[in-house]
Amino acid sequence: MRVLVVEDEIKMAELLARGLREEGHAVDVAGRGEDALWMVRATPYDIVILDIMLPGLDGLETCRQMRASEVWTPVLILTARDAVSDRVAGLDTGADDYLVKPFSFSELVARLRALTRRAPQERPVTLQVGDLRLDPAAHRAWCGDVELDLSAREFALLELLMRRPGQTLSRAQLLEGAWDMAFEVRSNVVDVYIRYLREKVDRPFGRDSIQTVRHVGYRLREDG
Ligand code: CA
Repeated sequence: MRVLVVEDEIKMAELLARGLREEGHAVDVAGRGEDALWMVRATPYDIVILDIMLPGLDGLETCRQMRASEVWTPVLILTARDAVSDRVAGLDTGADDYLVKPFSFSELVARLRALTRRAPQERPVTLQVGDLRLDPAAHRAWCGDVELDLSAREFALLELLMRRPGQTLSRAQLLEGAWDMAFEVRSNVVDVYIRYLREKVDRPFGRDSIQTVRHVGYRLREDG
């Protein structure tokens, strides 16, 4: 993604730019709202990270003028104050989301991902293995054209298997991935849920896609 960081505090701006570059993004930095305005008009950024506290034109006014000149790039506002009025004002000026300082970098990255996913041209990644299809964001799965009616746990198991088709996943890996809390190792809960899953994914379609790997765990056939 191409990101514009608008922040006058040099240390903060550098920290953000470096972190985002390490994530593989192209980053430009502006220290003033006035600079940010001509930059967003000249360059099609995927996202703008905009600090509220700026000298001259502040973040809110910058955002307002951006929208007034019909630049619709998603904007994530940064605010030092945990004030509701600030956040509301930010969203009223046409910002898409806000983050209160101090924030963790991983939270920032997660917000950016969510914002760009929301953009109309972006589609959530759908998993496909053979004729099995799963949309993690929408929480829906299909076999061919038939939508599968899965419980949350069954869905999580299927997603794990579909993320690594052809690979054997141990019971411990499946437990860890699909259950929030650690169960006792001798628990056969994974086997029970694999059985439920087969009843929905395989049996009605006369298939055998979820294979048992003796003494180890389970794997999904690469061709579904
Ligand atoms: Ca600032």
